[in-house]
Amino acid sequence: MTIPATMKAVVAHGPGDYRLEVVPVPVPGPHDLLIRVQACGICAGDLKAQQQASRFWGGDGMPGYCEPPFIPGHEIVGRVVVAGELAGDFKPGDRVVSEQIVPCGACRYCKDGRYWLCDPHNVYGFKQSLPGGMAEYMILPKNSRNYLIPDDLPIRKAALIEPFACSLHAVRRARITVDHAVVLAGAGTLGLGMVGAIRQRNPKQLIVVDLNDRRLALAKAFGADVTINPQQEDAVKRVMDLTGGAGCDVYIDATGHAPSVGQGLEMIAKGGIFVELSVFSSPATVDWSIIGDTKEITIYGSQLSPYCYPATIEGIVNGTIPTDGVVTHEYPIDQWEEAFAMSQSGQGIKVILKP
Ligand SMILES: [Zn+2]
Ligand SMILES: [Zn+2]
Repeated sequence: MTIPATMKAVVAHGPGDYRLEVVPVPVPGPHDLLIRVQACGICAGDLKAQQQASRFWGGDGMPGYCEPPFIPGHEIVGRVVVAGELAGDFKPGDRVVSEQIVPCGACRYCKDGRYWLCDPHNVYGFKQSLPGGMAEYMILPKNSRNYLIPDDLPIRKAALIEPFACSLHAVRRARITVDHAVVLAGAGTLGLGMVGAIRQRNPKQLIVVDLNDRRLALAKAFGADVTINPQQEDAVKRVMDLTGGAGCDVYIDATGHAPSVGQGLEMIAKGGIFVELSVFSSPATVDWSIIGDTKEITIYGSQLSPYCYPATIEGIVNGTIPTDGVVTHEYPIDQWEEAFAMSQSGQGIKVILKP
């Protein structure tokens, strides 16, 4: 396969300033894999970065994360074109996915095995030094965590490995047992990725809350026992009714919307487990007295997808983690603006680019 000198890529020059450009195809070093990108999903994080959230660009008392110019995209599927001689077990032709973070290997977190908390925290697609997948080619560099996937895995399933691995980590954090009534708030891509993983843990009850009936229908098809649309009924009251007045044992927030935190604290039972994995555009404020004195709640944060790729790939391939209907739109890279707009509109669920 001949590799061209240039490629199309989405390049972020600053908040709100994203452009389709022709840029040089990166040249792999001895530790690198060069891949031809087959798909790159658009994540809520990509949207929030494009829309200038202070979480990404600094301001509102928060330090920025983005270092432009960069090529966005961390939900990557591709085929190896060049494998550096020190790049490990992969060879040209292999179809791969890569974990979104490339650990430094040297900080205290990397050294003790918590690589997903790595201090430099380099995730593809937010910094000039680590270009992402919204391009025809990209490098999976030294320390990248790459996995082989089947050639015949449909692209709409393969593109969900990264987000669904994040879903699995959140579910593992929740320590769900058969005795638990579980409320999952948010049936976007991450929430829908959790439904199958929660179902595998066989909880007493799985209740999914979302504002969008189409997403709720999918959650039901994937295994939710009950779905609630808070625009149509009082979600807290319904959960109380469904749990004999106790509230839910586990509340997982995957909404991305700050009011969900307060809703969770209201409907969670005493001694309950609260898992938070939303990325909020602004701080969520709640009454912390509920967490201690009133209910003694255990809170787990959830970040990225450590040690979750192998099980996620297996579940998606063998169908125990349902995926049908989650990817709703595919766009060529030339239509990245339409793709971002569609993703933002909420009309679809997961929108992917096929560069
Ligand atoms: Zn993502
Ligand atoms: Zn590190």
